[in-house]
Amino acid sequence: MTGCIFCKIIQGQIPSEIVYEDDNVVAFRDINPQARIHIVIVPRKHINPMNEINEGQAKIFSDIFLAAKKIAVQQKIGQRGFRMIVNVGPDAGQEIEHLHFHLLGGEKLGKLVG
Ligand code: AMP
Ligand code: ZN
Repeated sequence: MTGCIFCKIIQGQIPSEIVYEDDNVVAFRDINPQARIHIVIVPRKHINPMNEINEGQAKIFSDIFLAAKKIAVQQKIGQRGFRMIVNVGPDAGQEIEHLHFHLLGGEKLGKLVG
């Protein structure tokens, strides 16, 4: 998608600290970390979570969670755990239209819900 920062990171057009990649998913450190470990996990394919999610894309969500599990082990938080957050749309403060999960961890996180 032209102009999408995350598409540019995936294509290597702008620098980022990539920590994990496979055929379907890329993960890199967030430029403005909100926890000791803050990694953004994205599908290689540009999908806007507001209006482009359909049954045909269901597999990307398991791909992302399987990647998160591997990243957690790699980052040595596989036992301590982590939080996954996805912001969808204006009320959630979504800034970048490319579907992305925030993986947060490396410290005790304040509870948001539950
Ligand atoms: P969201 O508010 O859920 O759309 O989150 C967008 C996230 O992307 C924010 O946490 C930003 O800090 C992060 N971000 C923006 N530009 C970059 C970049 N060039 N490299 C890494 N993370 C970025
Ligand atoms: Zn994109």
